Amino acid sequence: MKHQPFEEWLLNDKNLTPVEKRELDAHLRTCIHCTALSATGLALRSARAVSPAAGFTVRFQQRLAAQKIAERRRKLWGVIVLVLSGVGLLGWFAAPFVYSFASAPVQWLTTAVGYSLFIFTSLQAFTEAVMVLARVVPDFIPPYVWMVAVSALAGLGLLWVVSIWRFSRTPQGVSA
Ligand SMILES: [Zn+2]
Repeated sequence: MKHQPFEEWLLNDKNLTPVEKRELDAHLRTCIHCTALSATGLALRSARAVSPAAGFTVRFQQRLAAQKIAERRRKLWGVIVLVLSGVGLLGWFAAPFVYSFASAPVQWLTTAVGYSLFIFTSLQAFTEAVMVLARVVPDFIPPYVWMVAVSALAGLGLLWVVSIWRFSRTPQGVSA
Protein backbone atom coordinates (compact mmCIF):
# COMPACT_ATOMS: atom_id res chain seq x y z
CA MET A 1 0.00 0.00 0.00
CA LYS A 2 1.15 3.52 -0.75
CA HIS A 3 1.32 5.64 2.42
CA GLN A 4 2.55 8.88 0.91
CA PRO A 5 1.78 11.70 1.19
CA PHE A 6 -0.45 10.76 4.18
CA GLU A 7 2.40 9.49 6.32
CA GLU A 8 4.30 12.70 5.69
CA TRP A 9 1.25 14.81 6.64
CA LEU A 10 0.69 12.87 9.85
CA LEU A 11 4.34 12.97 10.90
CA ASN A 12 4.68 16.70 10.27
CA ASP A 13 1.30 17.54 11.80
CA LYS A 14 0.47 19.39 8.60
CA ASN A 15 -2.42 21.87 8.35
CA LEU A 16 -4.62 20.15 5.78
CA THR A 17 -6.92 21.70 3.20
CA PRO A 18 -10.47 20.28 3.15
CA VAL A 19 -9.60 18.21 0.06
CA GLU A 20 -6.43 16.80 1.63
CA LYS A 21 -8.38 16.06 4.80
CA ARG A 22 -10.97 14.09 2.84
CA GLU A 23 -8.22 12.11 1.07
CA LEU A 24 -6.53 11.37 4.38
CA ASP A 25 -9.80 10.18 5.95
CA ALA A 26 -10.37 7.89 2.99
CA HIS A 27 -6.87 6.46 3.33
CA LEU A 28 -7.17 6.01 7.09
CA ARG A 29 -10.33 3.92 6.64
CA THR A 30 -8.31 1.36 4.65
CA CYS A 31 -4.81 1.62 6.20
CA ILE A 32 -3.99 0.29 9.68
CA HIS A 33 -0.46 1.69 9.53
CA CYS A 34 -1.52 5.30 9.04
CA THR A 35 -4.43 4.95 11.49
CA ALA A 36 -1.96 3.91 14.16
CA LEU A 37 0.30 6.79 13.21
CA SER A 38 -2.61 9.23 13.43
CA ALA A 39 -3.66 7.84 16.81
CA THR A 40 -0.10 8.25 18.12
CA GLY A 41 -0.06 11.85 16.88
CA LEU A 42 -3.37 12.54 18.63
CA ALA A 43 -2.11 11.03 21.88
CA LEU A 44 1.09 13.06 21.71
CA ARG A 45 -0.82 16.27 21.01
CA SER A 46 -3.24 15.70 23.92
CA ALA A 47 -0.31 14.89 26.21
CA ARG A 48 1.34 18.12 25.17
CA ALA A 49 -1.87 20.04 25.84
CA VAL A 50 -2.02 18.83 29.45
CA SER A 51 1.11 20.53 30.64
CA PRO A 52 1.81 20.24 34.37
CA ALA A 53 0.56 23.02 36.61
CA ALA A 54 3.03 25.73 37.57
CA GLY A 55 5.45 24.70 40.29
CA PHE A 56 4.69 21.02 39.74
CA THR A 57 8.35 20.07 39.41
CA VAL A 58 9.30 21.95 42.55
CA ARG A 59 6.45 20.41 44.55
CA PHE A 60 7.31 16.97 43.22
CA GLN A 61 10.95 17.36 44.20
CA GLN A 62 10.00 18.67 47.64
CA ARG A 63 7.68 15.72 48.19
CA LEU A 64 10.38 13.32 47.04
CA ALA A 65 12.90 14.87 49.42
CA ALA A 66 10.41 14.70 52.31
CA GLN A 67 9.69 11.07 51.48
CA LYS A 68 13.41 10.27 51.45
CA ILE A 69 13.87 11.94 54.85
CA ALA A 70 10.88 10.06 56.28
CA GLU A 71 12.21 6.78 54.92
CA ARG A 72 15.65 7.42 56.35
CA ARG A 73 14.08 8.26 59.72
CA ARG A 74 12.02 5.06 59.59
CA LYS A 75 15.12 3.02 58.83
CA LEU A 76 17.03 4.69 61.66
CA TRP A 77 14.21 3.93 64.10
CA GLY A 78 14.12 0.34 62.85
CA VAL A 79 17.85 -0.03 63.53
CA ILE A 80 17.49 1.58 66.98
CA VAL A 81 14.62 -0.74 67.93
CA LEU A 82 16.51 -3.75 66.61
CA VAL A 83 19.67 -2.87 68.55
CA LEU A 84 17.77 -2.06 71.75
CA SER A 85 15.75 -5.26 71.64
CA GLY A 86 18.89 -7.26 70.86
CA VAL A 87 20.75 -5.71 73.80
CA GLY A 88 17.72 -6.24 76.06
CA LEU A 89 17.39 -9.89 75.05
CA LEU A 90 21.12 -10.43 75.52
CA GLY A 91 20.98 -8.78 78.95
CA TRP A 92 17.99 -10.90 79.92
CA PHE A 93 19.84 -14.08 78.94
CA ALA A 94 23.17 -13.02 80.43
CA ALA A 95 21.79 -11.57 83.69
CA PRO A 96 21.90 -14.84 85.71
CA PHE A 97 25.50 -15.51 84.66
CA VAL A 98 26.56 -11.95 85.31
CA TYR A 99 24.82 -12.06 88.68
CA SER A 100 26.40 -15.36 89.72
CA PHE A 101 29.80 -14.14 88.57
CA ALA A 102 29.45 -10.85 90.46
CA SER A 103 28.28 -12.55 93.66
CA ALA A 104 31.07 -15.16 93.66
CA PRO A 105 33.75 -14.44 91.05
CA VAL A 106 36.40 -16.77 92.45
CA GLN A 107 34.06 -19.72 92.71
CA TRP A 108 32.73 -19.06 89.23
CA LEU A 109 36.23 -18.90 87.77
CA THR A 110 37.22 -22.09 89.60
CA THR A 111 34.18 -23.87 88.22
CA ALA A 112 34.90 -22.61 84.71
CA VAL A 113 38.56 -23.62 84.83
CA GLY A 114 37.69 -26.98 86.38
CA TYR A 115 35.11 -27.62 83.74
CA SER A 116 37.44 -26.79 80.85
CA LEU A 117 40.18 -28.92 82.39
CA PHE A 118 37.72 -31.75 82.76
CA ILE A 119 36.67 -31.45 79.11
CA PHE A 120 40.27 -31.32 78.00
CA THR A 121 41.36 -34.40 79.98
CA SER A 122 38.24 -36.31 78.93
CA LEU A 123 38.93 -35.56 75.29
CA GLN A 124 42.56 -36.54 75.73
CA ALA A 125 41.65 -39.86 77.32
CA PHE A 126 39.04 -40.47 74.69
CA THR A 127 41.38 -39.74 71.76
CA GLU A 128 44.07 -41.95 73.34
CA ALA A 129 41.58 -44.79 73.61
CA VAL A 130 40.49 -44.25 70.02
CA MET A 131 44.11 -44.16 68.84
CA VAL A 132 44.89 -47.42 70.63
CA LEU A 133 41.82 -48.97 69.02
CA ALA A 134 42.83 -47.50 65.66
CA ARG A 135 46.21 -49.21 65.88
CA VAL A 136 44.81 -52.59 66.83
CA VAL A 137 41.43 -53.06 65.21
CA PRO A 138 41.73 -52.08 61.50
CA ASP A 139 43.59 -55.29 60.62
CA PHE A 140 40.61 -57.41 61.59
CA ILE A 141 37.53 -55.58 60.28
CA PRO A 142 36.52 -54.13 56.91
CA PRO A 143 36.62 -50.30 56.47
CA TYR A 144 32.86 -49.65 56.45
CA VAL A 145 32.36 -51.42 59.78
CA TRP A 146 35.30 -49.40 61.07
CA MET A 147 33.62 -46.13 60.01
CA VAL A 148 30.31 -47.07 61.65
CA ALA A 149 32.14 -48.06 64.84
CA VAL A 150 34.06 -44.78 64.94
CA SER A 151 30.93 -42.66 64.59
CA ALA A 152 29.11 -44.74 67.20
CA LEU A 153 32.07 -44.41 69.58
CA ALA A 154 32.22 -40.66 69.01
CA GLY A 155 28.51 -40.33 69.81
CA LEU A 156 28.83 -42.48 72.91
CA GLY A 157 31.88 -40.54 74.05
CA LEU A 158 30.06 -37.24 73.69
CA LEU A 159 27.07 -38.63 75.58
CA TRP A 160 29.42 -39.88 78.29
CA VAL A 161 31.17 -36.51 78.68
CA VAL A 162 27.88 -34.64 78.82
CA SER A 163 26.28 -37.03 81.33
CA ILE A 164 29.31 -36.98 83.63
CA TRP A 165 29.42 -33.21 83.44
CA ARG A 166 25.75 -32.91 84.34
CA PHE A 167 26.14 -35.42 87.15
CA SER A 168 29.20 -33.70 88.62
CA ARG A 169 27.74 -30.24 88.25
CA THR A 170 24.63 -30.77 90.38
CA PRO A 171 26.28 -30.61 93.88
CA GLN A 172 28.19 -27.46 92.89
CA GLY A 173 24.94 -25.83 91.78
CA VAL A 174 23.37 -26.62 95.15
CA SER A 175 26.32 -25.33 97.19
CA ALA A 176 26.44 -22.09 95.18
ZN1 LIG B 1 -1.15 4.36 4.92
